[in-house]
Amino acid sequence: MKTLVLGGGVVGVTTAYFLAKAGHEVTLVEEKEALGLEASSGNAGIIAPGHSFAWASPRAPRMLWDSLRGGETAIRLRLSSDVRLYTWGLRFLRECTADRARRNTLIKLRLCQYSQAVMTELVRAEQIEYHAIAKGALYLYRDGAELEAGVKKMALLAEHGQKQEVLDARGVAQLDPVFEPVQGKIAGAIRDLGDSSGDARLFVDNLARVCRDKLGVAVKLGTRVTALRADADRIDAALTSAGELKADNYVLALGVGAPIVARTVGVGLPVYPAKGYSSTFPLKPGGRAPTVPGVDEKWLVGWSRLGDRLRLTSTAEFAGYDWGWTPRDFNNILRLARDLFPEAADYDRGEYRACLRPMTPDGPPILGLGQHRNLFFNAGHGHMGWTMACGTARIVADLMLGRMPALDLEGLTVRR
Ligand SMILES: Cc1cc2nc3c(=O)[nH]c(=O)nc-3n(C[C@H](O)[C@H](O)[C@H](O)COP(=O)(O)OP(=O)(O)OC[C@H]3O[C@@H](n4cnc5c(N)ncnc54)[C@H](O)[C@@H]3O)c2cc1C
Repeated sequence: MKTLVLGGGVVGVTTAYFLAKAGHEVTLVEEKEALGLEASSGNAGIIAPGHSFAWASPRAPRMLWDSLRGGETAIRLRLSSDVRLYTWGLRFLRECTADRARRNTLIKLRLCQYSQAVMTELVRAEQIEYHAIAKGALYLYRDGAELEAGVKKMALLAEHGQKQEVLDARGVAQLDPVFEPVQGKIAGAIRDLGDSSGDARLFVDNLARVCRDKLGVAVKLGTRVTALRADADRIDAALTSAGELKADNYVLALGVGAPIVARTVGVGLPVYPAKGYSSTFPLKPGGRAPTVPGVDEKWLVGWSRLGDRLRLTSTAEFAGYDWGWTPRDFNNILRLARDLFPEAADYDRGEYRACLRPMTPDGPPILGLGQHRNLFFNAGHGHMGWTMACGTARIVADLMLGRMPALDLEGLTVRR
Protein backbone atom coordinates (compact mmCIF):
# COMPACT_ATOMS: atom_id res chain seq x y z
CA MET A 1 0.00 0.00 0.00
CA LYS A 2 1.46 3.36 -1.07
CA THR A 3 0.91 6.30 1.28
CA LEU A 4 1.86 9.93 0.88
CA VAL A 5 2.32 11.81 4.13
CA LEU A 6 2.09 15.51 3.37
CA GLY A 7 4.02 17.68 5.84
CA GLY A 8 7.37 16.99 7.53
CA GLY A 9 6.80 18.41 11.00
CA VAL A 10 6.68 16.27 14.12
CA VAL A 11 3.14 15.16 13.23
CA GLY A 12 4.05 14.09 9.69
CA VAL A 13 7.25 12.29 10.68
CA THR A 14 5.61 10.32 13.49
CA THR A 15 2.75 9.37 11.14
CA ALA A 16 5.23 8.21 8.50
CA TYR A 17 6.96 6.12 11.16
CA PHE A 18 3.85 4.21 12.29
CA LEU A 19 2.66 3.61 8.74
CA ALA A 20 6.05 2.42 7.51
CA LYS A 21 6.38 0.19 10.54
CA ALA A 22 3.08 -1.41 9.56
CA GLY A 23 4.48 -2.15 6.11
CA HIS A 24 3.23 0.78 4.05
CA GLU A 25 5.42 2.19 1.31
CA VAL A 26 5.60 5.76 2.61
CA THR A 27 6.75 8.98 0.95
CA LEU A 28 7.02 12.06 3.15
CA VAL A 29 6.60 15.39 1.34
CA GLU A 30 7.93 18.66 2.79
CA GLU A 31 8.31 22.06 1.20
CA LYS A 32 11.31 23.18 3.25
CA GLU A 33 14.86 21.95 2.65
CA ALA A 34 14.82 20.04 5.96
CA LEU A 35 12.23 18.41 8.21
CA GLY A 36 10.69 19.99 11.30
CA LEU A 37 11.63 23.59 10.58
CA GLU A 38 8.23 25.17 11.34
CA ALA A 39 6.25 25.01 14.61
CA SER A 40 8.04 21.77 15.46
CA SER A 41 11.35 23.55 15.90
CA GLY A 42 10.10 26.71 17.62
CA ASN A 43 8.03 25.26 20.43
CA ALA A 44 8.72 25.51 24.15
CA GLY A 45 9.71 21.84 24.24
CA ILE A 46 7.34 20.90 27.06
CA ILE A 47 5.59 17.54 26.85
CA ALA A 48 2.77 18.69 28.99
CA PRO A 49 -0.47 16.85 29.75
CA GLY A 50 -0.43 19.23 32.72
CA HIS A 51 -1.05 22.09 30.30
CA SER A 52 -4.09 20.58 28.59
CA PHE A 53 -6.49 23.40 29.44
CA ALA A 54 -8.64 24.48 26.50
CA TRP A 55 -7.89 27.98 25.29
CA ALA A 56 -11.58 28.51 24.57
CA SER A 57 -12.75 29.16 28.13
CA PRO A 58 -15.18 31.58 29.83
CA ARG A 59 -12.20 33.97 30.36
CA ALA A 60 -11.13 34.00 26.70
CA PRO A 61 -13.68 36.46 25.20
CA ARG A 62 -12.71 39.11 27.77
CA MET A 63 -9.01 38.52 27.05
CA LEU A 64 -9.55 38.96 23.32
CA TRP A 65 -11.53 42.13 23.93
CA ASP A 66 -8.86 43.53 26.27
CA SER A 67 -6.16 42.68 23.72
CA LEU A 68 -7.94 44.81 21.13
CA ARG A 69 -7.65 47.69 23.58
CA GLY A 70 -3.90 47.17 23.94
CA GLY A 71 -3.83 44.83 26.96
CA GLU A 72 -1.00 42.29 27.35
CA THR A 73 -3.33 39.29 27.49
CA ALA A 74 -2.51 35.58 27.12
CA ILE A 75 -4.50 35.31 23.90
CA ARG A 76 -4.51 38.26 21.51
CA LEU A 77 -6.48 39.25 18.48
CA ARG A 78 -5.33 41.46 15.65
CA LEU A 79 -8.17 42.59 13.40
CA SER A 80 -7.66 41.73 9.75
CA SER A 81 -9.60 41.48 6.51
CA ASP A 82 -9.32 37.67 6.55
CA VAL A 83 -12.91 36.37 6.70
CA ARG A 84 -11.63 32.99 7.94
CA LEU A 85 -10.43 34.62 11.15
CA TYR A 86 -14.02 35.59 11.93
CA THR A 87 -15.70 32.31 10.93
CA TRP A 88 -13.08 30.44 12.95
CA GLY A 89 -13.42 33.01 15.75
CA LEU A 90 -17.19 32.50 16.01
CA ARG A 91 -16.67 28.77 16.41
CA PHE A 92 -14.03 29.48 19.05
CA LEU A 93 -16.45 31.74 20.97
CA ARG A 94 -19.08 28.99 20.92
CA GLU A 95 -16.61 26.78 22.80
CA CYS A 96 -16.08 29.35 25.55
CA THR A 97 -18.69 28.05 28.01
CA ALA A 98 -17.57 26.41 31.25
CA ASP A 99 -19.05 23.06 30.22
CA ARG A 100 -17.37 22.97 26.83
CA ALA A 101 -14.04 24.18 28.24
CA ARG A 102 -14.09 21.34 30.77
CA ARG A 103 -15.09 18.79 28.15
CA ASN A 104 -12.43 19.96 25.66
CA THR A 105 -9.76 20.04 28.37
CA LEU A 106 -10.47 16.46 29.35
CA ILE A 107 -10.44 15.27 25.73
CA LYS A 108 -7.04 16.92 25.23
CA LEU A 109 -5.75 15.51 28.51
CA ARG A 110 -6.74 11.97 27.52
CA LEU A 111 -5.01 12.37 24.18
CA CYS A 112 -1.87 13.82 25.79
CA GLN A 113 -1.65 11.01 28.33
CA TYR A 114 -2.08 8.40 25.62
CA SER A 115 0.49 10.13 23.44
CA GLN A 116 3.05 10.19 26.23
CA ALA A 117 2.70 6.43 26.65
CA VAL A 118 3.08 5.87 22.90
CA MET A 119 6.11 8.17 22.81
CA THR A 120 7.79 6.37 25.71
CA GLU A 121 7.40 3.06 23.88
CA LEU A 122 8.66 4.51 20.59
CA VAL A 123 11.68 6.18 22.18
CA ARG A 124 12.62 2.96 23.94
CA ALA A 125 12.14 0.82 20.82
CA GLU A 126 14.13 3.09 18.51
CA GLN A 127 16.56 4.60 21.04
CA ILE A 128 15.69 8.15 20.00
CA GLU A 129 17.83 10.87 21.60
CA TYR A 130 16.10 14.25 22.02
CA HIS A 131 17.62 15.92 25.13
CA ALA A 132 14.80 14.56 27.27
CA ILE A 133 14.34 15.84 30.83
CA ALA A 134 11.83 13.89 32.91
CA LYS A 135 11.46 15.94 36.08
CA GLY A 136 7.92 17.21 35.62
CA ALA A 137 7.13 20.83 34.78
CA LEU A 138 6.65 23.88 36.99
CA TYR A 139 3.62 26.15 36.68
CA LEU A 140 5.02 29.14 38.51
CA TYR A 141 3.06 31.83 40.38
CA ARG A 142 4.30 35.14 41.71
CA ASP A 143 1.33 35.82 43.95
CA GLY A 144 -0.07 33.63 46.75
CA ALA A 145 -3.72 34.18 45.83
CA GLU A 146 -3.04 33.28 42.21
CA LEU A 147 -1.19 30.14 43.29
CA GLU A 148 -4.24 29.14 45.30
CA ALA A 149 -6.51 29.76 42.29
CA GLY A 150 -4.07 27.76 40.14
CA VAL A 151 -4.24 24.81 42.54
CA LYS A 152 -8.05 24.83 42.27
CA LYS A 153 -7.86 24.95 38.48
CA MET A 154 -5.26 22.16 38.25
CA ALA A 155 -7.41 19.91 40.46
CA LEU A 156 -9.40 18.94 37.35
CA LEU A 157 -6.29 17.38 35.83
CA ALA A 158 -5.31 15.75 39.13
CA GLU A 159 -8.76 14.15 39.32
CA HIS A 160 -8.08 12.66 35.90
CA GLY A 161 -4.72 11.09 36.51
CA GLN A 162 -2.08 13.85 36.63
CA LYS A 163 0.21 13.65 39.67
CA GLN A 164 0.86 17.11 41.07
CA GLU A 165 2.55 18.72 44.04
CA VAL A 166 2.30 22.28 45.32
CA LEU A 167 5.65 23.84 46.17
CA ASP A 168 6.39 27.05 48.03
CA ALA A 169 9.28 29.21 46.84
CA ARG A 170 11.75 27.22 48.94
CA GLY A 171 10.46 23.95 47.54
CA VAL A 172 10.84 25.29 44.01
CA ALA A 173 14.46 26.27 44.73
CA GLN A 174 15.17 22.86 46.25
CA LEU A 175 13.88 21.18 43.11
CA ASP A 176 15.67 23.51 40.71
CA PRO A 177 18.59 25.50 42.20
CA VAL A 178 18.26 28.12 39.45
CA PHE A 179 15.48 29.62 41.62
CA GLU A 180 17.62 29.91 44.79
CA PRO A 181 18.69 33.55 44.22
CA VAL A 182 15.19 34.63 43.08
CA GLN A 183 13.00 32.90 45.68
CA GLY A 184 11.71 36.28 46.85
CA LYS A 185 10.15 36.92 43.45
CA ILE A 186 7.85 33.89 43.45
CA ALA A 187 5.04 32.59 45.65
CA GLY A 188 5.48 29.00 44.54
CA ALA A 189 4.56 26.56 41.83
CA ILE A 190 2.42 23.62 40.95
CA ARG A 191 4.64 20.84 39.72
CA ASP A 192 3.04 18.39 37.36
CA LEU A 193 5.16 15.31 37.88
CA GLY A 194 4.02 13.61 34.68
CA ASP A 195 5.25 16.37 32.37
CA SER A 196 8.68 16.38 30.77
CA SER A 197 10.56 18.20 28.04
CA GLY A 198 12.77 17.66 25.03
CA ASP A 199 13.92 19.00 21.71
CA ALA A 200 11.20 18.29 19.13
CA ARG A 201 13.47 19.17 16.20
CA LEU A 202 16.14 16.72 17.33
CA PHE A 203 13.42 14.10 17.82
CA VAL A 204 12.19 14.73 14.26
CA ASP A 205 15.71 14.41 12.84
CA ASN A 206 16.47 11.19 14.69
CA LEU A 207 13.10 9.58 14.00
CA ALA A 208 13.34 10.57 10.33
CA ARG A 209 16.69 8.77 10.20
CA VAL A 210 15.00 5.60 11.48
CA CYS A 211 12.21 6.10 8.94
CA ARG A 212 14.66 6.45 6.06
CA ASP A 213 17.39 3.98 7.01
CA LYS A 214 15.41 1.25 8.72
CA LEU A 215 11.91 1.49 7.30
CA GLY A 216 12.58 2.67 3.75
CA VAL A 217 10.55 5.90 3.91
CA ALA A 218 11.29 8.18 0.95
CA VAL A 219 11.63 11.84 1.91
CA LYS A 220 10.96 14.50 -0.70
CA LEU A 221 12.25 17.84 0.55
CA GLY A 222 11.81 21.18 -1.20
CA THR A 223 8.48 19.96 -2.55
CA ARG A 224 5.48 22.23 -2.05
CA VAL A 225 2.01 20.69 -2.18
CA THR A 226 -0.14 23.14 -4.10
CA ALA A 227 -3.38 21.15 -4.32
CA LEU A 228 -5.07 17.77 -4.14
CA ARG A 229 -7.08 16.36 -7.03
CA ALA A 230 -10.25 14.40 -6.32
CA ASP A 231 -11.98 11.81 -8.45
CA ALA A 232 -15.45 11.32 -6.96
CA ASP A 233 -14.93 10.25 -3.33
CA ARG A 234 -11.23 9.49 -3.64
CA ILE A 235 -8.09 11.59 -3.88
CA ASP A 236 -6.41 10.83 -7.14
CA ALA A 237 -3.15 12.84 -6.81
CA ALA A 238 -1.27 15.47 -4.86
CA LEU A 239 -0.14 18.29 -7.12
CA THR A 240 3.23 19.58 -6.07
CA SER A 241 6.06 21.84 -7.18
CA ALA A 242 7.82 18.61 -8.27
CA GLY A 243 4.87 17.40 -10.30
CA GLU A 244 1.99 15.05 -9.65
CA LEU A 245 2.39 12.45 -6.88
CA LYS A 246 0.07 9.46 -6.68
CA ALA A 247 -0.63 6.99 -3.89
CA ASP A 248 -3.35 4.77 -2.46
CA ASN A 249 -3.73 6.90 0.66
CA TYR A 250 -2.90 10.48 1.62
CA VAL A 251 -2.32 12.01 5.06
CA LEU A 252 -2.67 15.75 5.51
CA ALA A 253 -0.18 16.72 8.24
CA LEU A 254 0.69 20.22 7.05
CA GLY A 255 0.21 22.15 10.30
CA VAL A 256 -1.21 25.58 9.43
CA GLY A 257 -0.90 24.62 5.73
CA ALA A 258 -3.55 21.89 6.10
CA PRO A 259 -6.71 24.01 5.61
CA ILE A 260 -5.21 25.70 2.55
CA VAL A 261 -4.55 22.41 0.77
CA ALA A 262 -7.80 20.80 2.03
CA ARG A 263 -9.77 23.64 0.46
CA THR A 264 -8.56 22.61 -3.02
CA VAL A 265 -10.86 19.56 -2.81
CA GLY A 266 -13.70 21.40 -1.12
CA VAL A 267 -12.89 20.40 2.46
CA GLY A 268 -13.16 23.12 5.11
CA LEU A 269 -10.83 22.36 8.01
CA PRO A 270 -11.35 24.63 11.03
CA VAL A 271 -7.64 25.25 11.63
CA TYR A 272 -6.32 28.78 12.06
CA PRO A 273 -2.82 30.04 13.00
CA ALA A 274 -2.06 31.29 16.51
CA LYS A 275 1.27 33.03 16.31
CA GLY A 276 3.87 32.61 19.03
CA TYR A 277 7.32 34.07 19.59
CA SER A 278 10.24 31.75 20.15
CA SER A 279 13.80 32.46 21.21
CA THR A 280 16.81 30.24 21.83
CA PHE A 281 19.96 31.19 23.74
CA PRO A 282 23.27 29.38 24.24
CA LEU A 283 23.80 28.42 27.89
CA LYS A 284 26.74 30.08 29.63
CA PRO A 285 29.36 27.51 30.60
CA GLY A 286 29.06 26.95 34.36
CA GLY A 287 26.09 29.36 34.63
CA ARG A 288 23.08 28.55 36.78
CA ALA A 289 20.43 27.44 34.26
CA PRO A 290 16.98 25.86 34.63
CA THR A 291 16.90 22.08 34.86
CA VAL A 292 13.12 21.72 35.03
CA PRO A 293 10.86 23.10 32.27
CA GLY A 294 8.06 25.45 33.18
CA VAL A 295 5.65 28.27 32.52
CA ASP A 296 5.47 31.60 34.34
CA GLU A 297 1.71 31.91 34.78
CA LYS A 298 1.88 35.69 35.25
CA TRP A 299 4.18 36.66 32.42
CA LEU A 300 3.06 33.71 30.27
CA VAL A 301 6.47 32.63 29.13
CA GLY A 302 7.39 28.96 28.79
CA TRP A 303 10.95 27.67 29.05
CA SER A 304 12.93 24.49 28.71
CA ARG A 305 16.53 23.47 28.45
CA LEU A 306 17.37 21.81 25.15
CA GLY A 307 20.86 20.37 25.57
CA ASP A 308 23.22 23.33 25.81
CA ARG A 309 20.53 25.86 24.84
CA LEU A 310 17.67 27.55 26.62
CA ARG A 311 14.36 27.89 24.75
CA LEU A 312 11.83 30.54 25.81
CA THR A 313 8.49 31.17 24.10
CA SER A 314 5.45 33.37 24.64
CA THR A 315 2.27 34.89 23.22
CA ALA A 316 -0.68 33.56 21.24
CA GLU A 317 -1.80 36.03 18.65
CA PHE A 318 -4.54 35.49 16.08
CA ALA A 319 -2.97 37.47 13.27
CA GLY A 320 -3.37 35.23 10.22
CA TYR A 321 -0.51 33.73 8.19
CA ASP A 322 2.05 36.21 9.44
CA TRP A 323 5.52 35.02 10.44
CA GLY A 324 6.83 38.56 10.98
CA TRP A 325 8.33 39.81 14.23
CA THR A 326 10.09 42.84 15.68
CA PRO A 327 12.54 42.98 18.62
CA ARG A 328 9.73 44.45 20.73
CA ASP A 329 7.80 41.17 20.48
CA PHE A 330 10.52 39.57 22.62
CA ASN A 331 10.52 42.15 25.44
CA ASN A 332 8.38 39.91 27.61
CA ILE A 333 10.64 36.90 27.12
CA LEU A 334 13.83 38.84 27.78
CA ARG A 335 12.31 40.50 30.83
CA LEU A 336 11.50 37.08 32.28
CA ALA A 337 14.86 35.57 31.31
CA ARG A 338 16.80 38.37 33.01
CA ASP A 339 14.46 38.37 36.00
CA LEU A 340 14.49 34.64 36.80
CA PHE A 341 17.55 33.21 35.03
CA PRO A 342 20.01 36.12 34.83
CA GLU A 343 23.12 33.90 34.76
CA ALA A 344 21.76 31.09 32.61
CA ALA A 345 22.48 32.06 29.05
CA ASP A 346 24.11 34.57 26.78
CA TYR A 347 21.13 36.82 26.09
CA ASP A 348 23.08 38.84 23.53
CA ARG A 349 23.30 35.81 21.22
CA GLY A 350 19.66 34.86 20.83
CA GLU A 351 18.00 33.29 17.82
CA TYR A 352 14.55 34.80 17.35
CA ARG A 353 11.57 33.77 15.29
CA ALA A 354 7.80 33.67 15.15
CA CYS A 355 5.94 30.45 14.43
CA LEU A 356 2.33 29.43 14.00
CA ARG A 357 0.34 26.96 16.07
CA PRO A 358 -2.34 25.16 14.01
CA MET A 359 -5.36 25.78 16.28
CA THR A 360 -8.83 24.25 16.13
CA PRO A 361 -11.66 26.22 17.80
CA ASP A 362 -12.27 23.58 20.49
CA GLY A 363 -8.65 22.45 20.98
CA PRO A 364 -8.36 18.75 20.02
CA PRO A 365 -6.83 18.01 16.62
CA ILE A 366 -8.68 16.73 13.56
CA LEU A 367 -7.96 13.07 12.98
CA GLY A 368 -9.08 10.39 10.56
CA LEU A 369 -11.21 10.38 7.43
CA GLY A 370 -13.43 13.07 5.98
CA GLN A 371 -15.50 12.92 2.81
CA HIS A 372 -12.78 11.26 0.70
CA ARG A 373 -12.19 7.59 1.37
CA ASN A 374 -8.40 7.80 1.14
CA LEU A 375 -7.64 11.24 2.65
CA PHE A 376 -6.74 11.12 6.33
CA PHE A 377 -6.28 14.19 8.52
CA ASN A 378 -3.72 14.62 11.23
CA ALA A 379 -3.80 18.36 11.79
CA GLY A 380 -4.79 21.10 14.20
CA HIS A 381 -2.67 20.18 17.23
CA GLY A 382 -2.56 23.81 18.38
CA HIS A 383 -0.38 24.53 21.39
CA MET A 384 0.12 20.83 22.21
CA GLY A 385 1.46 19.19 19.05
CA TRP A 386 4.79 18.11 20.50
CA THR A 387 2.92 16.43 23.34
CA MET A 388 0.26 14.84 21.13
CA ALA A 389 2.24 13.90 18.01
CA CYS A 390 3.08 10.27 18.77
CA GLY A 391 -0.42 9.45 19.99
CA THR A 392 -2.25 11.05 17.10
CA ALA A 393 0.14 9.48 14.59
CA ARG A 394 -0.57 6.08 16.07
CA ILE A 395 -4.34 6.71 15.98
CA VAL A 396 -4.31 7.86 12.34
CA ALA A 397 -2.15 4.89 11.34
CA ASP A 398 -4.52 2.52 13.18
CA LEU A 399 -7.55 4.05 11.44
CA MET A 400 -5.88 3.70 8.04
CA LEU A 401 -4.87 0.11 8.76
CA GLY A 402 -8.36 -0.81 9.92
CA ARG A 403 -7.15 -1.47 13.47
CA MET A 404 -9.08 -0.34 16.52
CA PRO A 405 -7.08 2.50 18.18
CA ALA A 406 -6.11 1.71 21.76
CA LEU A 407 -7.52 5.07 22.91
CA ASP A 408 -11.26 5.53 23.27
CA LEU A 409 -11.96 8.17 20.61
CA GLU A 410 -15.18 9.42 22.23
CA GLY A 411 -15.36 13.19 21.82
CA LEU A 412 -12.39 13.43 19.50
CA THR A 413 -13.08 15.18 16.22
CA VAL A 414 -12.35 12.04 14.25
CA ARG A 415 -13.87 12.08 10.79
CA ARG A 416 -14.59 8.58 9.61
C1 LIG B 1 5.62 29.34 20.33
C2 LIG B 1 5.12 27.93 20.38
C3 LIG B 1 5.33 27.16 21.53
C4 LIG B 1 4.86 25.84 21.60
N1 LIG B 1 5.12 25.09 22.71
C5 LIG B 1 4.71 23.80 22.76
C6 LIG B 1 5.03 22.99 23.87
O1 LIG B 1 5.74 23.40 24.78
N2 LIG B 1 4.55 21.72 23.88
C7 LIG B 1 3.78 21.21 22.88
O2 LIG B 1 3.33 20.07 22.97
N3 LIG B 1 3.52 21.94 21.77
C8 LIG B 1 3.96 23.22 21.70
N4 LIG B 1 3.69 23.98 20.59
C9 LIG B 1 2.86 23.41 19.53
C10 LIG B 1 3.61 22.50 18.60
O3 LIG B 1 4.86 23.04 18.25
C11 LIG B 1 2.77 22.29 17.33
O4 LIG B 1 1.46 21.88 17.67
C12 LIG B 1 3.38 21.19 16.45
O5 LIG B 1 4.70 21.53 16.12
C13 LIG B 1 2.56 21.00 15.19
O6 LIG B 1 3.25 20.07 14.40
P1 LIG B 1 2.88 19.87 12.87
O7 LIG B 1 3.80 18.84 12.36
O8 LIG B 1 1.41 19.70 12.75
O9 LIG B 1 3.17 21.32 12.24
P2 LIG B 1 4.56 21.94 11.73
O10 LIG B 1 5.65 21.65 12.67
O11 LIG B 1 4.27 23.37 11.44
O12 LIG B 1 4.84 21.12 10.43
C14 LIG B 1 4.06 21.26 9.25
C15 LIG B 1 5.01 21.04 8.10
O13 LIG B 1 4.28 21.11 6.88
C16 LIG B 1 5.04 21.84 5.95
N5 LIG B 1 4.11 22.42 4.97
C17 LIG B 1 3.12 23.30 5.19
N6 LIG B 1 2.47 23.57 4.05
C18 LIG B 1 3.06 22.83 3.09
C19 LIG B 1 2.81 22.63 1.70
N7 LIG B 1 1.81 23.27 1.06
N8 LIG B 1 3.59 21.76 1.02
C20 LIG B 1 4.57 21.06 1.65
N9 LIG B 1 4.86 21.22 2.95
C21 LIG B 1 4.11 22.08 3.67
C22 LIG B 1 5.75 22.90 6.76
O14 LIG B 1 6.89 23.39 6.10
C23 LIG B 1 6.08 22.12 8.03
O15 LIG B 1 7.35 21.53 8.00
C24 LIG B 1 4.15 25.29 20.50
C25 LIG B 1 3.99 26.05 19.33
C26 LIG B 1 4.47 27.34 19.26
C27 LIG B 1 4.29 28.11 18.00
